[in-house]
Amino acid sequence: MVVEIVTTGTELLLGQIVNLNAAYLAEGLNKLGFDVLYQTTVGDNRDRMKQALTIALDRADIVITSGGLGPTQGDITKEVSASLFDKELSLHQASLDNIKEICAFRGYPMAQNNIKQAMIPDGAIVLDNACGTAPGIILENNGKVIINLPGPPFEMKDMFQKKVIPYLTGKYGMDSIILSRVLNTVGIGESTLEESIEDLILAQSNPTLALLARPGEVIVRITAKASTKKEAEQMIEVLESEIRNRIGEYIFGTDDIGIEEVVGNLLKKKHLTIACAESCTGGLLTSRITDVPGSSEYLYGSVVSYDNEVKISELKVPASILGSVGAVSEETAKAMAEGIRSKFNTDIGIGITGIAGPDGGSNEKPVGLVYIAITGHSGTKCYKNQFKGKRTAVKYRATQTALDIIRR
Ligand code: ATP
Ligand code: MG
Repeated sequence: MVVEIVTTGTELLLGQIVNLNAAYLAEGLNKLGFDVLYQTTVGDNRDRMKQALTIALDRADIVITSGGLGPTQGDITKEVSASLFDKELSLHQASLDNIKEICAFRGYPMAQNNIKQAMIPDGAIVLDNACGTAPGIILENNGKVIINLPGPPFEMKDMFQKKVIPYLTGKYGMDSIILSRVLNTVGIGESTLEESIEDLILAQSNPTLALLARPGEVIVRITAKASTKKEAEQMIEVLESEIRNRIGEYIFGTDDIGIEEVVGNLLKKKHLTIACAESCTGGLLTSRITDVPGSSEYLYGSVVSYDNEVKISELKVPASILGSVGAVSEETAKAMAEGIRSKFNTDIGIGITGIAGPDGGSNEKPVGLVYIAITGHSGTKCYKNQFKGKRTAVKYRATQTALDIIRR
């Protein structure tokens, strides 16, 4: 079954909003085993929308639209869709009652133009909107289907999950499902990763393999198509374990988990506390650690020691170190880590010092040079890093590496 997604709205064409609906629908439909072969975006213009939908109906069995079900003049998707199947619109009392009820609940009288939202093409299946006023519709004609969903992502998602999925799976009895698993890696570059699994990438058919580089991390997505979820899971597991054999040490988690959460879970499990002394990252590491709910269980506190005076007064970094090897050095990073650990009496102390750029670099200490030290019950270690990129990228990569060091 070929599906085309048609997202409507001039604001999408102007780049004023990101097309979240297309991505959401594409992911959901692919998971169900539908072939999403086209995505179209068209503005709120009658002629062009008609043209886009005509083309879509020609090359797809099912056309799913989002947007343009509102009460205003610019909201035309339903009318245009109905006209392609030669359907008239008439008032749908249950939808009108629902709109009146929502308005009453929100404490204002129903506007006259809301009636437009209750006008439904003859023969359409009405999809109640649990989150807003505009009902969605399903139109069937000569083996082709148009499904109109509302634009606001919250309403669209709810309707897709509760109404569209049951309709599609009921009607087409999909005999295959598509399942994906993402392996999140850190500490290995995209090209090195690619080399390590090159033969698997070249040989891929089902499951498929894809690499995607994100700031400070690379993800590997494994996607399998099978007749049951269990079968797809088994196919993924075989490939996953082969990948883990090769690059397992770099994989910090699967699917949506972030490295902050992995670190948090680890510290909680081991009953360890942590404190950070941050210079070039300006508190970003601490901010990321506190992005995880419940981080107060393990994060004690931190010091942003940007100025050398603060490194000396708050962290007891010896002035002699700063005077001889400088603030950006292994010795300073170690002294910062040890200083914060003893200041707050935690199990682990982290010290980060480096040159985020764009200025301040030299031949000896180029921009992107960052020392990250970790200290704990078994001593102090320091890692020298040379990060690429702009100031914000260097800062982010430094925190990513620090979290990786804590995780190991
Ligand atoms: P409304 O009743 O709010 O007018 P509608 O069904 O007519 O809803 P639109 O007018 O097209 O939908 O869009 C309403 C809002 O929903 C947009 O301003 C935008 O914030 C959001 N939206 C619409 N389409 C998308 C999309 N493809 N991706 C993300 N957000 C979207
Ligand atoms: Mg609208």
